[in-house]
Amino acid sequence: MEKFPDLMQKIISLSKRRGFIFQGSEIYGGLSNTWDYGPMGVELKNNLKKIWWKYFVQEREDVVGTDAAIFMNPRVWEASGHVGGFSDPLMDCKKCKKRLRADKLIEEYREKSEDATLPENWAGESTPPEKLLEYIKEKEIKCPDCGGNNFTDIRKFNLMFKTHQGVTEDSGSQIYLRPETAQGIFVNFKNVLQSLHLKPPFGIAQIGKAFRNEITPGNFTFRTREFEQMEIEYFVPEKLWKEKYAELEKLSWNFFLKLGLKEENLRWREHSKDELSHYSSKTCDVEYKFPWGWGELEGLAYRTDFDLKNHTKMSGQDLSFQDPTTNEKYIPHCIEPSFGADRTVLTILLDAYNEEEVNGEVRTVLKLNKDLAPIKIAILPLCKKEKLTSVARDVFGKLKSNYAIWYDETQSIGKRYRRQDEIGTPYCLTVDFDTLSDKAVTVRDRDSMEQERIKIDELEKYFEEKFN
Ligand code: ATP
Repeated sequence: MEKFPDLMQKIISLSKRRGFIFQGSEIYGGLSNTWDYGPMGVELKNNLKKIWWKYFVQEREDVVGTDAAIFMNPRVWEASGHVGGFSDPLMDCKKCKKRLRADKLIEEYREKSEDATLPENWAGESTPPEKLLEYIKEKEIKCPDCGGNNFTDIRKFNLMFKTHQGVTEDSGSQIYLRPETAQGIFVNFKNVLQSLHLKPPFGIAQIGKAFRNEITPGNFTFRTREFEQMEIEYFVPEKLWKEKYAELEKLSWNFFLKLGLKEENLRWREHSKDELSHYSSKTCDVEYKFPWGWGELEGLAYRTDFDLKNHTKMSGQDLSFQDPTTNEKYIPHCIEPSFGADRTVLTILLDAYNEEEVNGEVRTVLKLNKDLAPIKIAILPLCKKEKLTSVARDVFGKLKSNYAIWYDETQSIGKRYRRQDEIGTPYCLTVDFDTLSDKAVTVRDRDSMEQERIKIDELEKYFEEKFN
């Protein structure tokens, strides 16, 4: 990471320059912390989601998929604990007006000072706000921005976005934008179980948008208010949870390696008891070493039977499972690997970014895993002469059904190579005047920059081997 001290800035500008990620609503001056994926970004993100789905759903006997609605009956969020508990304790520094999260301030203080004491009546997210403030005063914790120690009272701020369904805006029509995709899985547990005659252990996977009115969004797409999650709720009889947790731990780690991320930039971090969410009794995060420090990519939480138990109570529907062979009836426990698609895309860009000196010039290259690369092959006729472009278009026709291809006949070949390097295209294929006689093209490898002459008739076989 230290290799490029301004790496984040480089990624943000490359993202705009090459069509990965743009500021949201940019022509209207933007809407803060919203980002839109451009032509290269959407390909990259789709590839990531495809790899995830293949790895965690398609290639497994024990995982199936769903795609639930974003709007859900508001009682779902009462049962899940989000209406009561999904809130941040906020206060303002009276001196510099900085808005702060009291829990984060305490966490930072405890880490730095190695003070193990906790606020009185400590109950994680549900600790009474006045107890947090008492602790901050007693320990003389200061505002990280101005050093002041005079704060307003703490107010709890619920992170769920509210909206109204239908034409009236009374409280009866109020609904929420889901803050996690998981609940869409829990409410369909019985439907999936019965329609497919499944038996725990099994998992239900889902990819979709989630919304949180985050207090401190930032760091580009790392923390936004609208983001995409890739989640599995894996249901087990209680006695199996440790074994299955360990399996999912291994799978998760290998998934990030499969994406080609550098292992030295990844680590596991287990949540301490006082940090756990209201529903979890063990959580470990996979973190990535971002330019500003370690940050979460995936949370692997053991959610016990919290969700299915509460939905059983709230809905009055029996969400237990009865084993047909033993007749044993129980509410399954649940392990949840929850990945952020946007954070992972950002990680992939940061990890793949490279600058190399070539013949006295700097070459910027994204050394993306081939499966993730938005464009797999660029077809570049040496010049715009009809003789060459018609061959190039024939080659395009041959390859287009199997690979994402970019056809480009503008500007010098050097500039076109540079453009493809910057978006991480693994192979550039050049059609030149020799092609007309030898029926071959030059294929340039992104990483080694080595060039090979390949017969047009052999291209399909050549790339089949390269992409395998
Ligand atoms: P953090 O501690 O960073 O706020 P979290 O613990 O609240 O994250 P989870 O509820 O475990 O996050 O969500 C699962 C995954 O969803 C995270 O690992 C992350 O990749 C992604 N995610 C959560 N919040 C955001 C956000 N505001 N913006 C982008 N991705 C997010």
